[in-house]
Amino acid sequence: MKPKETNCSFCGRSKEEVIMLISGIEGHICDNCIEQANKIISTELSPTGTKAVKGKKGAAPKFDLLKPADLKKKLDEYVIGQDIAKKVMSVAVYNHYKRLNFQQSNDIKDVEIEKSNILLLGDTGTGKTLVAKTLARILNVPFCIADATVLTEAGYVGEDVESVIARLLQSANYDTEAAQMGIIYIDEIDKIARKGDNPSITRDVSGEGVQQGLLKILEGTVAHVAPEGGRKHPDQKYVKVDTTNILFICGGAFDGIKNIIGRRINQSEMGFTTVKDRLQITKSVLSKVNPSDLKSFGLIPEIIGRLPVITFMEPLDKATLRNILTEPKNALIKQYTELFKMDGIALTVDEAVLDYIVDKALEFNLGARGLRSICETLMMDYMFEAGANLKKKELHLTLKDVEEKLKNVDLSTAA
Ligand code: ADP
Repeated sequence: MKPKETNCSFCGRSKEEVIMLISGIEGHICDNCIEQANKIISTELSPTGTKAVKGKKGAAPKFDLLKPADLKKKLDEYVIGQDIAKKVMSVAVYNHYKRLNFQQSNDIKDVEIEKSNILLLGDTGTGKTLVAKTLARILNVPFCIADATVLTEAGYVGEDVESVIARLLQSANYDTEAAQMGIIYIDEIDKIARKGDNPSITRDVSGEGVQQGLLKILEGTVAHVAPEGGRKHPDQKYVKVDTTNILFICGGAFDGIKNIIGRRINQSEMGFTTVKDRLQITKSVLSKVNPSDLKSFGLIPEIIGRLPVITFMEPLDKATLRNILTEPKNALIKQYTELFKMDGIALTVDEAVLDYIVDKALEFNLGARGLRSICETLMMDYMFEAGANLKKKELHLTLKDVEEKLKNVDLSTAA
């Protein structure tokens, strides 16, 4: 028998049977076992350090949850500003998953804590989808985006409900347990409001029918989804996905709701002429939104009741847009810098250029989404040249270059 010290302490293989054997204080580990251990670590830990712990067999995974303040801190890395929404959502999400953990480890059901589905109001491009997506990423749970208006177009709502859940299941790699604890972002929930006080909403009672359909998944239903591959084999069963514990975040611009709230609280936008004033007043009015305003807007009371957490995204001012360009972990300028670096080119951008991009986004009312389209338009030629002209090692953008580049571009349709 070979001396013990030349064998892997984990699998017992000898030095000759493996590619590499690494020595520790008490023993050795072989390359196979290192690889195995690495796999275990990466499945157990999410990139953000959130640990999904498998519960009892057959039970959904438990979460080693970040506290609300830590959740918000993580959100801060990706979402600029929007402090109120980030705080409210961190608490709601924390409570939701805490409730799920509690449900699994306790049989006491004296108090039934309802889930905290979230309604998120705010103009398009203010980061509603981003915040929902980022939360799912932090928690390492499956996530998908659905559009409420799609539900409107089909005559039979049930079919669409299934397709939304199918998408979530797909993003969970067909792990039903994981999907059942996922997050679904439903966009444009305002578009299915029945015609209320708001003149811009033209849909009528049909909107109400869709809301009823949506209610079904919000409340919790068992959806029958086609198994992996989409097509059902004759002797294959549909996958049953229970939506009871799925967290729903519904977003919408709710055009015109400011007037409804304003009327209720006796405050109007009239007389506030500067952009800064208008942003300020919008924020102060939106912060007072309550369920009765949503009802006046045209959401049915049952839906409002299923979305107990209501919060809002602030309109983006100049300083926020400027930060969005450079601050988040995946900020646009950081992405372009990285892309050019791959071609061996060091990109530097003058402060004046950044201000100019933000001013254009504001001037054409393009929001944060406009920042990307303006940058794309701007960088297009440079990126095209970068591929060919590898001799150039630096790219420095000045205001003059940028004004020249964008001189003849129609930015009004850029977002
Ligand atoms: P919404 O869902 O409200 O229409 P999105 O979340 O799709 O808006 O935002 C569009 C893009 O704008 C995002 O991908 C992101 O790059 C950027 N963005 C918007 N708001 C923010 C923000 N507060 N912080 C960082 N980026 C933002």
